[in-house]
Amino acid sequence: MMNYKNYLRPLVLGLCGLTTTLGIAQADASVSGKQSARMDTVSASTVFIHTGFENASPMNWEVDAEGRVVGSLVYDHERFSINRAVNHFHFRVEAPVGKEVTIILENFNNIWNRTPASSISKLTPIVVSFDNKTWESRPTELISGNRLQFKVKMTGPSAYIASLEPYRISDLDRFLAKIRTHKLVTVTPIGHTAEGRSLEMIKVGNEKAPKRLFIRARAHSFETGGNWTVEGLVNRLLKDDAESRLYLKNYCVYILPMANKDGVARGRTRFNANGYDLNRKWDIAADSLIAPENYFLEKWLAKMVRENKKPDLAIDLHNDPGGNLHISRPAGDITAYLANMKKLETLLRKYTWFTEGSTSAQFRNPGSLGEGFMERFGIEALVYELNYEWIAGLKKAPLAQDWLLLGSKLPEVFYHYFQKP
Ligand SMILES: [Zn+2]
Repeated sequence: MMNYKNYLRPLVLGLCGLTTTLGIAQADASVSGKQSARMDTVSASTVFIHTGFENASPMNWEVDAEGRVVGSLVYDHERFSINRAVNHFHFRVEAPVGKEVTIILENFNNIWNRTPASSISKLTPIVVSFDNKTWESRPTELISGNRLQFKVKMTGPSAYIASLEPYRISDLDRFLAKIRTHKLVTVTPIGHTAEGRSLEMIKVGNEKAPKRLFIRARAHSFETGGNWTVEGLVNRLLKDDAESRLYLKNYCVYILPMANKDGVARGRTRFNANGYDLNRKWDIAADSLIAPENYFLEKWLAKMVRENKKPDLAIDLHNDPGGNLHISRPAGDITAYLANMKKLETLLRKYTWFTEGSTSAQFRNPGSLGEGFMERFGIEALVYELNYEWIAGLKKAPLAQDWLLLGSKLPEVFYHYFQKP
């Protein structure tokens, strides 16, 4: 039987602790009226920031003296480098219906390619959802200290807020479940991420088609645009109408839809779980332990080359505030490649909302997948950066539907791209 005194002991100690805490709080409050107000605000706050769900971003937060939520985002750091990045934020605000919550986000002082680079501007939008399904884009205010400020009127008990319309691993699983039994689709595991998540290669069409296209998406974990674009592309190719049959008679598509699954799972911005940038160091073979995501892709690619199935074009889909095609410029004669890139740009302008253009002759980003595929595998390749702030061709900030639309038009672009002039 439990001893009566022992049973009471923790309760008494607990009460003593509470009294002591209250005593200190009262003593502190009497020192300064300002501090007292702040403590009252903190204890009375009716706002909670939830970051404990799939793809939510790690962040410290507090409610300041004016009742605003101040969220300090956590940098994603590159291994053995000064580079760091915050572009991804994704959290849930829980507050009473009708309340207007002011939110300030900070820590956007990124270091990109060893150069200070802020990831936000006056154009930076956020996306908001009250049901975690339908998202709308809203503008933000760039305030002092390179911070973003915005207000959310609670039309429901919780509001999801993110930098880009989310595309989680569960979204990919839903998509793969939908397409994997289709007669034109093969989904093959080609390896695993640093944390052991499966990496899938989606093949759409007949591998004996005259041309082959390879697309990688989501090497950087915050960049959801590539995933939505890939969905739009695959859905269009599987329509089974006269056009899609014509497209797939001419080319076969291979897609690695989510290269950086670990970063997506952990709500990080850019690097893999080991702090490796999956769009760098493509000039050398990837380490199987540090960067298995690249190692297994290289292994797959080497097999394709051995089997005479080398892709004729490779596109690495990304998001940035520029929206350009990043043309590779490795050493050697790239005249034919540059002509093909001009053709691709022209076709994108003709058949999609793309208007942003290509990087200039001075632009180099050695070590990107685009450069590495050309140098090491002799595959014509580029990085396509989807603008995450503004789609000039549609005059709006991007949502998933805009990237789905882009993807749905790409099969026609590739059809004409692969036609002889
Ligand atoms: Zn990127």
